Amino acid sequence: MAEEAPAPAELAKVDYRPPARDWREPAVDFRRGTYCYGAAPKNLQYLGLPNPRPWQPHDADWKLPPDWKQTILAGMKDRLERFRSFRLFMDICVRCGACADKCHFYLGTGDPKNMPVLRAELMRSVYRRYFTLPGRLLGRLGGGRELTEDVLKEWFYYYHQCTECRRCSVFCPFGIDTAEVTMMGRELLTLVGCNINWILEPAANCYRTGNHLGIQPHAFKDSVDFAVDELEEMTGIRVEAPINKKGAEILYVIPSAETFGTPHYYTLLGTLLLFHAIGLDYTLSAYASEGGNFGLFTSHEVMKRLNAKIYAEARRLGVKWILGGECGHMWRVVHQYMDTMNGPADFLEEPVSPVTGTRFAQARSTKMVHICEFTADLIREGKLRVDPRRNDHWVATFHDSCNPARAMGLLEEPRFVLRSVCQRFHEMPESTIRERTFCCGSGSGLGTDENFEMRMRGGFPRANAVRHVRDRFGVNLVACICAIDKATLPPLLEYWVPGMNVAGVHELVGNALVVEGEKARTQDLRGQPLASPEAPAGA
Ligand code: SF4
Ligand code: SF4
Repeated sequence: MAEEAPAPAELAKVDYRPPARDWREPAVDFRRGTYCYGAAPKNLQYLGLPNPRPWQPHDADWKLPPDWKQTILAGMKDRLERFRSFRLFMDICVRCGACADKCHFYLGTGDPKNMPVLRAELMRSVYRRYFTLPGRLLGRLGGGRELTEDVLKEWFYYYHQCTECRRCSVFCPFGIDTAEVTMMGRELLTLVGCNINWILEPAANCYRTGNHLGIQPHAFKDSVDFAVDELEEMTGIRVEAPINKKGAEILYVIPSAETFGTPHYYTLLGTLLLFHAIGLDYTLSAYASEGGNFGLFTSHEVMKRLNAKIYAEARRLGVKWILGGECGHMWRVVHQYMDTMNGPADFLEEPVSPVTGTRFAQARSTKMVHICEFTADLIREGKLRVDPRRNDHWVATFHDSCNPARAMGLLEEPRFVLRSVCQRFHEMPESTIRERTFCCGSGSGLGTDENFEMRMRGGFPRANAVRHVRDRFGVNLVACICAIDKATLPPLLEYWVPGMNVAGVHELVGNALVVEGEKARTQDLRGQPLASPEAPAGA
């Protein structure tokens, strides 16, 4: 159950007046509804991470290891030496303030420590104190802060009020990426056992079964078989959905939520129908049964290991290349980190569409193509028959999910696909889409029930833009291409813009797709009646 949250009218009254207290004072109020629970010891143990013990952030005693301070400082030193970006981000901020009002958590809370510049300063001040001459000599006068337990708690609080969305970095004239600072903050906290359960449990499940929910291979197969049966009932078409098929041309990796949760599941139905329509030689994998990578929110080491399973499975199955589904952080890891962590994937081939012959040169190194790139190419080359009238019950807009938009620049393909399969489409205001898109407010593992108020606050700017297109154009559907969005936008929009629907782009593709041998459609993939039901076949 979600924590009780104040009514929307109450939450919308944001007080932007700065507090009287000196920002360097670190005391944090762990108020219910504004933070996530600590990681359970079994999950730390499973991942081989330090200091497993029962604890909660609201406890006075966090049961830190006796040498916690040395551990954090040694970890910081190590990372300053290993990651040039980290040292650079600690050194070059000129406090111009261009990022200050760009974070959705600042806009939704009015808390200055949610300004990206100040969020980074929470760590920079410690960096200065221990790793720069002025800070070592002059302490506070040199801009330094002692690393105390209260500072550690403050890091925990504010580095879990950043969804690592990277919106602020778009506006920084120096390209400072506060998400990377947050990643370092979380990684350092993990060194002393202070991570959140909603991150470590999915990561531990992935170690064990390959996916976030701990779905075992037989259950994964059951879910996919169920989707095949249901699709046949709806369309009259019996598709094949191979799992672990050796020698298939393509490995298709999805977020596991598509096999059990709605609205994600309808995306799976859409893609299964698409692959049938084009006769694709592909396979799913019961081991690489998750594209999402919660290692991104834990440590570089966990991220690397979770990403490696996709490539290990591609090698085992002997595929030529990998197609990836509507997932968010999978793509950030693939585009920004995979090559230097596990790549280049030279044992695979440069991806070429078997239907159009298009060479996906942008995936030359990772060998991994996004499903929207793949489908956009099919449509552009005239290889799909679609009837966009079948989506006439929807007036759609598109929410750019942070990672595909900002970490891989996937801006036009989903729009091209949507405009091809949907007659009524309206953009949200320019300042809230594409590279400048607003986060759902629950990414990077923060989508927990106990964190409900903070999520509603963080998602406020996105919801506001949705409300705008609802009021102006009658939009009733937000399309997106991220599993976290599909899980977190429904409660967010129910709170701020009740009655709004959320769907994957390939759900709408599946609705519109005209497939040889199908029966007349009267319903969409959700089982909802079409605006204009078609005549039965043969009528
Ligand atoms: S990365 Fe996103 S959530 Fe984090 S500080 Fe920047 S804008 Fe805010
Ligand atoms: S925009 Fe960049 S340089 Fe300016 S305050 Fe923010 S992080 Fe610092």
